[in-house]
Amino acid sequence: MSDFDVDLFVIGGGSGGVRAARIAAGHGARVMLAEEDRMGGTCVIRGCVPKKLLVYASRFAADFEDAAGYGWSVPKAAFDWPTLIKNKDAEIARLEGIYRTNLTRAGVEIVDSRAVIEDAHTVRVLKTGARIRARVILVATGGRVVKVPAVPGIEHAITSNEAFHLERLPERIAVVGGGYIAVEFAGIFAGLGVETTQIHRGEKLLRGFDEDLRDALGEAYARRGIRLCLECGLTSIEKVGGELLITLTDGRELRVDQVMIATGRMPNTERLGLEEAGVALASNGAIVVDAMSRTNVPSIYAVGDVTDRVNLTPVAIREGHAFADTVFGNSPGSVDHNVIPTAVFSTPEIGTVGLGEADARQRYGNVRIFRSSFRAMKATLSGREDRVLMKIVVDGDTDRVLGVHILGDGAGEMIQLVGIAVTMGATKADFDRTMAVHPTAAEELVTMRTPVA
Ligand SMILES: Cc1cc2nc3c(=O)[nH]c(=O)nc-3n(C[C@H](O)[C@H](O)[C@H](O)COP(=O)(O)OP(=O)(O)OC[C@H]3O[C@@H](n4cnc5c(N)ncnc54)[C@H](O)[C@@H]3O)c2cc1C
Repeated sequence: MSDFDVDLFVIGGGSGGVRAARIAAGHGARVMLAEEDRMGGTCVIRGCVPKKLLVYASRFAADFEDAAGYGWSVPKAAFDWPTLIKNKDAEIARLEGIYRTNLTRAGVEIVDSRAVIEDAHTVRVLKTGARIRARVILVATGGRVVKVPAVPGIEHAITSNEAFHLERLPERIAVVGGGYIAVEFAGIFAGLGVETTQIHRGEKLLRGFDEDLRDALGEAYARRGIRLCLECGLTSIEKVGGELLITLTDGRELRVDQVMIATGRMPNTERLGLEEAGVALASNGAIVVDAMSRTNVPSIYAVGDVTDRVNLTPVAIREGHAFADTVFGNSPGSVDHNVIPTAVFSTPEIGTVGLGEADARQRYGNVRIFRSSFRAMKATLSGREDRVLMKIVVDGDTDRVLGVHILGDGAGEMIQLVGIAVTMGATKADFDRTMAVHPTAAEELVTMRTPVA
């Protein structure tokens, strides 16, 4: 008879926790999973999925406009926010149900409650008070939004969480932040016809991305009518009648209907019992783990955003899967965090993989840059001014492609496939000998012949 009630107790039913629980159960482990909110976690409930649905919604207005150049006369289109939110909520509820069914089918016991750690092998389920003894504990509690800076009146601001449930679409919004979530929401609101201002203390949007992409996105956003207040912060929010009066660090004042703060997220490690169990945390509260997602307490592991490695759903899923295979599947493995293709669902969209030019120059002496900026074929008849940017960063010594960066329609879909080549270690010569698909925008990736730098 085992000393433990379960082999694995997973705290958190998000991307990482759900995958780990299912795979571990598949390896024959007795698994219990606690989720204090809705099953599916940030990505499904208040992240990637609802966000992408809103992005789709936000792109129709431009499509209707573009249709005119192709001979279509589209009657003035009307948009209804409550319909979008209702339909989005129905889809999220459907997905949540699928997550639950899949876990149950895999044999995982679901506990709808907050759970906290009592010691290296004990988890307490708050709803029932039950103490569960587990051979292994996996912390997959993700992250949460934080409203920074905590300026006077910050309580009037919403975050991405509330943006998904606004009763009415605001007429004017200020989005504070320059990271991908702020960029995506500014794009969503602007596409839906909201007068949108994006406030960011940096000199460009999307810190950490390739500089050409950052420049091209800034230009595209300005062209779309998004008012960019860069090198600028928020100093206060005041409710005046039915509107919000915000002041900025440069003294400017702005009247809006909503302020959305998208400046930061924190690992969810507060009041989880981690310190009491002796689990080491980084200064920002993230759980410190090794390459195998193991904490300094041998029976406690952590995956996903709570470890603040690369905070993306596919990464959390891979980490959860690798953990389960390692601990319960007799097949040790770790996740390579080096080459991670990713998208920003701005409009125009961004797809990026590998090193940007500046990082490549820092790490490799001899770097060749291929860059192309052009008007997509679709824009010729529609008359849209948008340009597509494609950039390839190559190690001049080995010819290996170090990074690919795309801004334009379908960039997210393109970069998934380019990511395969870059992960395989493709060289520029491999790109060059790949036959072009004509006529596409993506063919530019295999036809850039002359380095620009
Ligand atoms: C607006 C937004 C858009 C995003 N868009 C993308 C995107 O396009 N692509 C992408 O790859 N990533 C995106 N992300 C990031 C992605 O959502 C996260 O990286 C991913 O969800 C992390 O998974 P996780 O398992 O670590 O944590 P989560 O998915 O956050 O799951 C953690 C779960 O643990 C639960 N929990 C916490 N504490 C406890 C406790 N004590 N007891 C029980 N349950 C607990 C929480 O309720 C939550 O459900 C986005 C995030 C946001 C906020």
